[in-house]
Amino acid sequence: MITTYPLPWSCTPQKREKLQTLQINFGSYCNLACKHCHIEAGPNRREVMNADTLGKVISWIRTYKPDVVDITGGAPELMNGFRTLVEASSQSGAQVIDRCNLSVLSEAGQEDLVPFLKRHNVQIVASLPCYLKENVEQQRGKGSYDLSIKGLKLLNEFGYGMEESLPLYLVYNPGGPYLPPAKEKLEPAYRERLREDWGIEFTELWCLSNVAIKRFENYLKARGELESYEQLLEDHYNPNTLKGLMCHNTLSVDYRGVLYDCDFNLALDKKLADQDEQFLWDINPDTIRGLPIAMGKHCLACTAGSGSSCTGAVEPHAIKSTTHSDIHSLSH
Ligand code: SF4
Ligand code: SF4
Repeated sequence: MITTYPLPWSCTPQKREKLQTLQINFGSYCNLACKHCHIEAGPNRREVMNADTLGKVISWIRTYKPDVVDITGGAPELMNGFRTLVEASSQSGAQVIDRCNLSVLSEAGQEDLVPFLKRHNVQIVASLPCYLKENVEQQRGKGSYDLSIKGLKLLNEFGYGMEESLPLYLVYNPGGPYLPPAKEKLEPAYRERLREDWGIEFTELWCLSNVAIKRFENYLKARGELESYEQLLEDHYNPNTLKGLMCHNTLSVDYRGVLYDCDFNLALDKKLADQDEQFLWDINPDTIRGLPIAMGKHCLACTAGSGSSCTGAVEPHAIKSTTHSDIHSLSH
């Protein structure tokens, strides 16, 4: 039976440090509806940042100049205001990241998206849960693999993943209730298959764990695997991951401007520092420094094995400890 209290890090409460990254969840609209999406995004979702909120967010960025503006969703590229946000963030000196599902590049009206991103030096973080068609389509739906390959080829054509100044990071997440394999093992397999099958190059593979909330939680519940997955995470709790948690230096903001410690807490409506609702324009980076991070059972996914964050493992050289640690596990 999983231990629900105390959680493994209870003796070492985590606090916010100097802000580095403002992660903006632009809304839940998406052209896909992936099985494991913690936002439960999809084509029927209507939550999108409006012009008034966008103006306030941009004004904050111009004032406080975060090092990184990381734009996610949903599919942020398909929402009004995305390009305005990219331009303003880039002009303020931030490194802009676009979390891209690749298939958006084939959507009508997005023909000039890649040159636009390149012009603003935007880094691309692209989700590709496997290099095998059946596994990608199992998570993301029929047709998603071909569109992903088409998108990757287009990005390569414009230099993404080919030139040092235009990084293309790929993101792997497991297809089932197990920890991701070590990047050192999986990245060469991705590189070989994508290169040999499609002539595709990329910069680096980031391996993320699935957080058992929302769609992934429901998926596990339906298969009777939720408890065993949570137990797996708890059994592989690694205290060395705590110092690298992304919530130390990343601040998440939703489409209304409301603040959270991370995008998972955003999905759970668990507000910044477990306090009352606060908006981006009501705080500055110094007022939130030192606040306790709002953690819960879902944080086990960030602290198991090598740990997990928006940029992959937080302690890449930890011993991997997955029940499905080889490449064949991808077919689950
Ligand atoms: S995981 Fe990404 S691509 Fe899939 S539905 Fe969610 S936001 Fe869209
Ligand atoms: S899920 Fe928990 S540990 Fe992970 S980033 Fe969010 S608050 Fe931090």
